[in-house]
Amino acid sequence: MASLRSRLIAAQLAVVLVGVLALAVGVEWTLRRHPPAFWAELLASLPADDLASSTTLLLALVRRITFRALFFAGLAATLTGLLTSWLLTGELLRPLRDLARSSRRIAVGHYDERVAMPASTELATVAESFNQMADTLEQIEAQRVALIGNVMHELRTPLTALGGYVEGMMDGVLPADERSFDQMDHEVRRLQRLVADLQELSRVEAGQVRLSLEDVDLTALTARLVQRLAPQAMAMGIALTLNDNAGSLFVHADPDRTTQILINLVGNAINYTLEGGTIIVSVNRRNGLAEVTVEDSGIGIAASDLPFIFERFFRTDRSRDRRTGGSGIGLTIARHLAWAMGGDISATSEGVGQGSQFSLSLPVGRTASNPV
Ligand code: ADP
Repeated sequence: MASLRSRLIAAQLAVVLVGVLALAVGVEWTLRRHPPAFWAELLASLPADDLASSTTLLLALVRRITFRALFFAGLAATLTGLLTSWLLTGELLRPLRDLARSSRRIAVGHYDERVAMPASTELATVAESFNQMADTLEQIEAQRVALIGNVMHELRTPLTALGGYVEGMMDGVLPADERSFDQMDHEVRRLQRLVADLQELSRVEAGQVRLSLEDVDLTALTARLVQRLAPQAMAMGIALTLNDNAGSLFVHADPDRTTQILINLVGNAINYTLEGGTIIVSVNRRNGLAEVTVEDSGIGIAASDLPFIFERFFRTDRSRDRRTGGSGIGLTIARHLAWAMGGDISATSEGVGQGSQFSLSLPVGRTASNPV
């Protein structure tokens, strides 16, 4: 693969070279066409006593030879120039035409369109970037289609249930009593939660969350949250405890968003831990970051599911079986929020039935009690 610049230079040099060669051949050919006897005869025929007209005659001859040689050289150089230009523009225009055609096809929704790699390095770079852009567009389109499918799926279940209740009541099969209304209310709340989650998801994915970052004591914030959720865990027969050996640890984060993330992590731990299980929340400093770890003895996550746990709408089969399960958006939102604050969330599990461990890391704050 040669660069376009070197090909252009080579083409110009070829034109010059052919011109010079043709000139040399033309001069040589004209001179050779006339044997030495011709020149001797010519010189002898010049009027010896009239120097001015002899010179004029000789100059006219030299001029004729020069112009003839120049004519052939010009013709050869022009033909070479036309040929190299035709070849080069062909090489340049073909990939550009390909790019224009592929762009038009992508614009009307053919996201699988790609261009072939051109010979020149510069054009190959453009083609490579174009193909990368097409890859990304194809992925985004696939995600969009998957999102619509997932949203439809999530909406269908509560809507079908609600439709069933209304129909049952209208047909007199179901009594219009408190229990039926409670169940309908449950489905309506599920729909409301889903809509709120989707709204939040689109905001965090678009990077539109407003954060008010400040130095917050992560240990105190976590302790308050554990205190708040402990009764809920206890009601389900789960022991929720805080391990705060590290003492005060300040992070530079949005306290409300940090609480929201931790509610999601501890809430999941409660949802996916069976009665008699334990959840230990600990606050530590690790690798220059502050970290809250939520470790449960719950249903665990299979190694094959772990890489997808933060994807939109992803739920493991075992969590689908549990009535407590949500729509699989919570962790996606939580991770985007953590990223927005300069942190991250990671998950580990020894496998199904072995419990899980989720860690939220956040940048440490610059507070006196927290020397960096
Ligand atoms: P959901 O609302 O369904 O809990 P999340 O996004 O919070 O959605 O979690 C996605 C999935 O990750 C869950 O459906 C579940 O399969 C799995 N998961 C999350 N936390 C845990 C946990 N502590 N133990 C086992 N599985 C978990």
